[in-house]
Amino acid sequence: MNIPTIEVGIMSAKSIDFQLNGRFLQATGEETVNGNGTATVTGDSSFILHLGDKQQTFDEFVLLEPVNEEEANFELHHVIIGVQFHWEREETQRFKGKLKIYVENGMLTAVNILSVEDYLLSVISSEMSATSSLELLKAHAVISRSWLLAQIEKGKQLKDANYKTLIRNEEGYIRWYDREDHSRFDVCADDHCQRYQGITKVSAPQVYEALKATSGEVLLYDNKICDARFYKCCGGVTEKFEHVWEPVVHPYLTQVIDNEIIPVGYNTGLTDEKNARAWILGNPPAFCNTHDHEVLSQVLNDYDQETQDFYRWQITLTQAEIKDLLLRKVGIDVGDVLDLIPVERGVSGRLIRLKIVGSKGEITIGKELEIRKSLSESHLYSSAFVVEKVSDSFVLKGAGWGHGVGLCQIGAAIMSAKGYPHREILMHYFPQAEIKKIY
Ligand SMILES: [Zn+2]
Ligand SMILES: [Zn+2]
Repeated sequence: MNIPTIEVGIMSAKSIDFQLNGRFLQATGEETVNGNGTATVTGDSSFILHLGDKQQTFDEFVLLEPVNEEEANFELHHVIIGVQFHWEREETQRFKGKLKIYVENGMLTAVNILSVEDYLLSVISSEMSATSSLELLKAHAVISRSWLLAQIEKGKQLKDANYKTLIRNEEGYIRWYDREDHSRFDVCADDHCQRYQGITKVSAPQVYEALKATSGEVLLYDNKICDARFYKCCGGVTEKFEHVWEPVVHPYLTQVIDNEIIPVGYNTGLTDEKNARAWILGNPPAFCNTHDHEVLSQVLNDYDQETQDFYRWQITLTQAEIKDLLLRKVGIDVGDVLDLIPVERGVSGRLIRLKIVGSKGEITIGKELEIRKSLSESHLYSSAFVVEKVSDSFVLKGAGWGHGVGLCQIGAAIMSAKGYPHREILMHYFPQAEIKKIY
């Protein structure tokens, strides 16, 4: 098998400014082009491209291909990163490979087409610090590669399947978010898929070494590439796939106690409200229960290091704030919020369904990301929380950071620091999977 290519959606805007550094070929022409370019939307399905001293109109897309991949690159200006996160910002980013700009519904989208291994070099360099240990980087290389190839495969299947991610009925508002949002490219460049900044940052020799050492290595289950997920911190226990996304069972994405032994004094049957409460309000030992700055700096970017309390956290929301959030973010008016009642929890204690009782009525929301988005301007750290009512406010006491399915990055960093090799780290978080080289 050859190294596959991937199409990454970088940005969408009415106008896109870019710069070609080196010689590029326009798919339709033989003349090479370079320098500054601007694509501007002119209608629902047309745009003008100014490039050098030329001006052309396109109906569908333009593809710009470097003559020599190793020598040429391109820059995109005003790329927004951290969309809807507290650290949202704009920057110029540089990319290797091809640039495709297409128009759809009066919007332009810039797509970068490149080899999977080049993409991984960038993604892992952006996600992880250059100081990360080699075994952690190797583990990350294998899951990022597996996840990516699994998404490309899944994307192909979804195109003709009747794929639903929203159920709205008398019972409530149950929604999950997944790749179905991208029909014109394989993955986006933000945290929704995997954070990708092209070759803006110089990739670390360690990352290159980890990729080379694991080239073509993926996780397999039942001879299929695993949908290997990861996130920042599980909170002590990992979650099942079907509790967060579509109701499909992946036996390798299941409950894993993120510790060498089952923590003494706790019952890890966390779908039970009483056990979940004791777990979330407690401080059980776990690989990811750490404040080790040196290890944390290996997995968290500068802006993520602003977050200190991720293993156990707490926020307070007033009744009025929740009412306002629900109205704006979910479009639901339940009146004054009287109670938040856990209805169903997953195996990590994360809420899958939460009932909101208001003066005008009640609604049940889910799944975990919908709950996190509904009760916060951006996202709650996780949906593993318990609710305490204090006069006209609700105190949410929570555990973990992220969806909790698959590899716990902070836990894996600690495992690596303790000397676990990458295969053991992977087998810990993806029980029943096997590691195999496919190219
Ligand atoms: Zn995405
Ligand atoms: Zn963990």
